[in-house]
Amino acid sequence: MSRPPAMFIGDALGLDFLNSIATPVDTPVDWIDDGEGLLNWLDQARLVPPEALDSIRRHALPGELDRTADQARRLREWFRGFVREHKGRPLAVGDLAQLEPLNRLLEGDETFSRIVPAPAGEDMPLQLEAARKWRTPQALLLPVGEALAQLVCTEEFLHVKACEGPTCTLLFADHTRGHRRRWCSMALCGNRAKQAAHRHRIKAHQD
Ligand SMILES: [Zn+2]
Repeated sequence: MSRPPAMFIGDALGLDFLNSIATPVDTPVDWIDDGEGLLNWLDQARLVPPEALDSIRRHALPGELDRTADQARRLREWFRGFVREHKGRPLAVGDLAQLEPLNRLLEGDETFSRIVPAPAGEDMPLQLEAARKWRTPQALLLPVGEALAQLVCTEEFLHVKACEGPTCTLLFADHTRGHRRRWCSMALCGNRAKQAAHRHRIKAHQD
């Protein structure tokens, strides 16, 4: 199945994960509705190195990647419930209990550090790099879980918003000065709203 490029308008990867199902034009698109879609989205999001994606694709058992995509969608919709409930006000310590499933997921992480050559121009010739063991397709959920955890720990939920487009489902973190962002993008919902307001003004003028 061919999909348009995924949407990265959330200004936070955890929100972009929630935006991996959306209606960019008229037809809803779920970028992670099967295993191949999940690999593709993770690649576009740069959450998993291409070599790891290749290796997981080669070694997965039949149906295994699709099942991982099922889990990813369940994770996405569970987390969407949390964000929808809490956006628009600051998170509190008391909200942690609700995030327990996310901590369960993160417990399974297999990250480690390794020494690698530093890029040219750095002061030191070697540097420490974070890496992850990619033993099973399930490991694909770990960087996603980390992005969701980063969102709740570093993003000001007061400024997490849903696009005001009447049928739009996209979420974003409003990092603008003054926090006046209203739309997923001007090209999508912003212009539609401007045109609708314009038609409304013309009509009001004629009445
Ligand atoms: Zn929108």
